[in-house]
Amino acid sequence: MFGSLFSSKTAAHPPAVLLRLHNTLTGTLDEFSPLEPPTVTIYSCGPTVYDFVHIGNLRMYVMWDILKRTLMHFGYEVKHTINLTDFGHLTDDADAGEDKMMKGLRREGLPVTLSAMRQLADIYTKAFKDDTDELRIMPPTTWARASEYVEMQIRLIETLEGKGYTYETTDGVYFDIAKFPAYGKLGNINLEDLRSGARVQVNSEKHHPADFAVWKKGLLGWESKWGKGFPGWHIECSAMAIATLGKQLDIHTGGIDHIHTHHNAEIAQSEAATGKEFARFWLHGEFITIDSTKVSKSLGNGITLRHLRDLGFSGDDYRYWLLTAHYRSPVNFTVEALRAGKQALYRLKRVVFEEYATARPTVHEGYLDRFTAHLGNDLDTPSAVALLWEVVKDTTLTAGEKYGTVLAMDSVLDIGLNDEPDEGVRSLGIVGNSELPPEVQALMADREAARIARNWLEADRLREAINLRGYSVEDTPQGPKITKVTNE
Ligand code: AMP
Ligand code: ZN
Repeated sequence: MFGSLFSSKTAAHPPAVLLRLHNTLTGTLDEFSPLEPPTVTIYSCGPTVYDFVHIGNLRMYVMWDILKRTLMHFGYEVKHTINLTDFGHLTDDADAGEDKMMKGLRREGLPVTLSAMRQLADIYTKAFKDDTDELRIMPPTTWARASEYVEMQIRLIETLEGKGYTYETTDGVYFDIAKFPAYGKLGNINLEDLRSGARVQVNSEKHHPADFAVWKKGLLGWESKWGKGFPGWHIECSAMAIATLGKQLDIHTGGIDHIHTHHNAEIAQSEAATGKEFARFWLHGEFITIDSTKVSKSLGNGITLRHLRDLGFSGDDYRYWLLTAHYRSPVNFTVEALRAGKQALYRLKRVVFEEYATARPTVHEGYLDRFTAHLGNDLDTPSAVALLWEVVKDTTLTAGEKYGTVLAMDSVLDIGLNDEPDEGVRSLGIVGNSELPPEVQALMADREAARIARNWLEADRLREAINLRGYSVEDTPQGPKITKVTNE
């Protein structure tokens, strides 16, 4: 209900504020406008679905969700693709170390076959989508599974070959970066440094250490004119971006680890094939660290959303905490920091659901303009969240103005303030008297009687008795509130 209240408002009055985004291609904050308004196309590099994703991976998709909702807030329509890497690449220029899908197959005791890869990918694709739902990430227009676009990838390689951008070796087909002089423009890569910095050349048939496989020959995989094998990792993103969004994207996103190799490779392949600029804006998100080490499965600190849930945190708690840091700042994860975020969100939700929700919501334009300006400043979510609190603390606003304004802000931040109030209160663990077990109801009534009789000792004893049954009591101006204790 409130979402529509707000979106009809934005559609009628697109904000006059500028939308500027940090573009890795230029290294500056650039004013954004799409090629074909009102549509904006976004391609986000997705996970390899060989295991549960960790909280660092999830940070990326929360941030791109904010990007998408910000664009909608500015009146645009968004077409978004997230890819799912669902087969191994067995290449030496993907991530260092063992191929992730192979690792997954070994871990689950599955054979090395295409159908086993599919089985593994199905399990972890579902787990990834469940995580994104729990974090209120809007589903993309297209979830692109790499295995469903192999034909497209082969055709793209054939186009590159036809134009003379590739060469064949005994183990595969490689992109010849010397044929693409703009190679390395993202992040200003110096090719000579790459050559001199290269360790022992793993593949002596490669012309340049930075040449990368677009096809890898092998015993397993798909048939092609170069023999059986797999497309390279980078080619899947070029093929799926072009197939689902067209030859030119407005925005391409990924983590900072993708800039040097993966994204420069995507640019080279796509632009060599189409002759057009591939993506006009490149946005990159910084890492989450734990004790200054990046969160990563292979480093053994790959905390997942499931781990957070076991510690008593909800998807909203994690999303709220993420929004308190800017997407281009590295952030250090600690349970204490997340707990502080959880407490802040709890206070926010209680005040919204219990004190504002009975009022008729109206939006305070001044605050909303400031909110829009923060988002327009390269998605400055920490300032946007701070402004939300300013609204809550502003003693000059009516409850209705506060309610309408926080709901409008929440249509971008989506930390659950738009939930139906009774449902929202229940999700905080606050229970109505009638929902309590009879013995707890009786203890509550006795405690009220003791309080009225000013028998504080007895009231405290009864509070303890209620606590022992898994509930906590808090006295508020509206009367006692009872909350189910979580396992945090
Ligand atoms: P991968 O499956 O490793 O390709 O990762 C999927 C996405 O998560 C990519 O955009 C990575 O850049 C991103 N990512 C990986 N590790 C982290 C981390 N520790 N913090 C934030 N993002 C990460
Ligand atoms: Zn990609």
